[in-house]
Amino acid sequence: MPIPTENVGSLPRPTTLQQALAGYDAGTTSREELTREQDAACRDSIERMEATGSPMVTDGEQRASSFATYPLTDTLGGTGLADNLAADGQYFAIFTDGHHRQLPRLTGGPFRYKTYAADYLEQAIPLATGPVKQAVIAPSMLALLYPLDAEIEGYSREEFLADLVDECEKDIRKCFEAGAARVSIDFTEGRLALRNDPANPWTGRNMLGEFVDLNNRVLDRFSADERRDIGIHTCPGGDMDSTHSADVDYAELLPAMFAMNAGYFLIQLASEPDRERVYRLLGEHSRADANGVPQVCFVGVINPQDPRVETAEEVRDQLVLAAQSIPVERLGSTDDCGFSPFSIDVKPKHGSPDVARDIAFQKITARVEGTRLASEELGV
Ligand SMILES: [Zn+2]
Repeated sequence: MPIPTENVGSLPRPTTLQQALAGYDAGTTSREELTREQDAACRDSIERMEATGSPMVTDGEQRASSFATYPLTDTLGGTGLADNLAADGQYFAIFTDGHHRQLPRLTGGPFRYKTYAADYLEQAIPLATGPVKQAVIAPSMLALLYPLDAEIEGYSREEFLADLVDECEKDIRKCFEAGAARVSIDFTEGRLALRNDPANPWTGRNMLGEFVDLNNRVLDRFSADERRDIGIHTCPGGDMDSTHSADVDYAELLPAMFAMNAGYFLIQLASEPDRERVYRLLGEHSRADANGVPQVCFVGVINPQDPRVETAEEVRDQLVLAAQSIPVERLGSTDDCGFSPFSIDVKPKHGSPDVARDIAFQKITARVEGTRLASEELGV
């Protein structure tokens, strides 16, 4: 079987869509106008991703407020915030360029999603001619909605976590019921959990172990057969062409990450300074049997933060190198991250989100072609 290749999920939203979102928040753009822009952006995303030759596509998350907040709010500006939430929650991340992203704060129970990923997926599948995957958010990210120290009166942390695990399971099951070929869980907070940034209190609390246990509570509800097609995405963040935890050593993260009983992992690697060392760590820590499934390592061969387009030959060479450390039947390729996990993202290093979209499709084309070349060279 050739080496599998798969994107993470998101693409930059076109300038016109970002303008419509701003207008919707300001009350000058109607819901119908916004939906028209989202429909057009989803159709364009799927058509152009299929044109790259990719065996699997997404709608580029063009309807989502962000990879983390899609269940909670219609826009990043806070329009359509779900019940029992206030806007002033914890920082989820502070990025190296100084900007930050904030989560809402839970004010009471019960916790329920207002939008499931499948609500978007159901609209994407009819636009595609081949398999469609869907990314969902990890329970470990949404666990940060609960105040770090305080207890919410009448809704204990344990009650919240039980509701959260139910909602995350439902989010994944609904994707498969809608026809998703694969579902990957975004776990960007995993690496950030090791950062210990005094400006962002939760990062200093050694929460990685709790995160892994919580995510396994969801994964363990799925059979081994189902978990073959459930992945985990790890990265040091990717927003406004900036990262939040690239200085955290993979050696600290990987043993815990591979304790999650997922069937595959989408792993940022193209932007790592010493990739060969990380390939060796992946070979060492990934498991051939994670409670009934082999863990397939999809290594990042494309850097979505960098406007330079990687060549297919560069992609091929990296995969051939990775195959020296990772068994080829457990090797895949991916992008380091989504191309724009947040809906409002001007992609400053690219010049504009529209230019960044064009570049994203060129990069995906190089990944698909380079992966084909590597399969040929490795004889798989
Ligand atoms: Zn990412």
